[in-house]
Amino acid sequence: MSASVTSPDGDTRSAIAEACRILAMEGLVDGVLGHISVRADDESMWIRCRGPHESGLMFTAADAIQRVTFDGRGAQPGYLVPQELSIHSELYRARPEVGCVIHAHPPAALVCGIAQLPIRPIFGAYNIPAMRMALEGIPVFPHSYLISRPELGQKMVQVMGDKNVCLLKGHGITVVGGSLEEAMMRALNLHILLVAVVEVAKTGRTAEAIPEEDIHELPDLGRGLNETMAYQYYRRKLAQWERRS
Ligand SMILES: [Zn+2]
Repeated sequence: MSASVTSPDGDTRSAIAEACRILAMEGLVDGVLGHISVRADDESMWIRCRGPHESGLMFTAADAIQRVTFDGRGAQPGYLVPQELSIHSELYRARPEVGCVIHAHPPAALVCGIAQLPIRPIFGAYNIPAMRMALEGIPVFPHSYLISRPELGQKMVQVMGDKNVCLLKGHGITVVGGSLEEAMMRALNLHILLVAVVEVAKTGRTAEAIPEEDIHELPDLGRGLNETMAYQYYRRKLAQWERRS
């Protein structure tokens, strides 16, 4: 398998690597924990692996993105697939519409899970996609163990149902999308929602859901704005952030 980063496969690898760095920039991952994959076909995926010069998600380069089967075979020598590969494999196996899986450990998700903070639609126009996520309900996987075997991945998939996001208590989050861009915006918006829930809880006040009337008035701003433009912002922010550091 080619290690080229200029082929179409190389574009996928570069895009996943960039997304890993965006997760780090935005505080959804820290250090070497967390991973993103993109479905390659019905039995394999591109996934962020640990490489010979591993130094964390913030410094992910395209070479760390390896094509492996759902059973974890096929990485180039020196690259280790994540121990939680089953999060990705079992979602791809169970849900044909899933084209991208993100697993991260955002601190706000940890606090929400441990403190059992209810995740309600507590804001409106501030971030409409995040509000809708809360409105639809966010499943909570009640176990904090490493999802290191297919049967544990299947349990998570079961709890997740047909939802696109899942909070893993004492652990982190799993987010899916049809594309990398869609999954990334869901993860970033979920993070914004969970941070708001935690910050309100710190004030000691109860965050009530916004009224039905307000929800009714909130428009769907469309994929162009919610995904394409929104994600382009994060890509440019990363480029600037990396130039300055
Ligand atoms: Zn994890």
